[in-house]
Amino acid sequence: MAIRTIREMGDPVLTKVCKEVKEMTPRTAELIQDMLETMYEANGVGLAAPQVGILKRIAVVDVTGEDPIVLINPKVMETSGEQTGSEGCLSLPGKCGDVTRPNYVKVYAYDENMQGYEIEGTELLARALLHEIDHLDGHMYVEKVEGELQTVTPDWEEEE
Ligand code: ZN
Repeated sequence: MAIRTIREMGDPVLTKVCKEVKEMTPRTAELIQDMLETMYEANGVGLAAPQVGILKRIAVVDVTGEDPIVLINPKVMETSGEQTGSEGCLSLPGKCGDVTRPNYVKVYAYDENMQGYEIEGTELLARALLHEIDHLDGHMYVEKVEGELQTVTPDWEEEE
């Protein structure tokens, strides 16, 4: 496993539509493990393959830190409700902004064994799933931000 470099906004790879994964290969399995490791290292709640420069429809999400979700070729099946909250992205470090998204989402995806499954999420999980799926179509949350992007004060500065 290895930590991969996270691409930042402005990198054209983040604006591309990713390709479906047709089969699991050792290379793709390694990519998924690296994405999980990279997400945890960066203290993120989600990471999409284009964020590490790979144009495949793969994302990982973990909103609790102990429940990794692997999403391959994810499709949004259903949404409902609405939530507005602060959102950030590992590809735009130090920034956040308010985004309105559905409060509930049902997603169909394949896991790392290419087994299809359904996942439902509300609140933060719904937000994270939709944010990552947007990346697979070349979209960043900043396109949806209401008002100004804000600068995040890192914890270590607040403690001084
Ligand atoms: Zn993101």
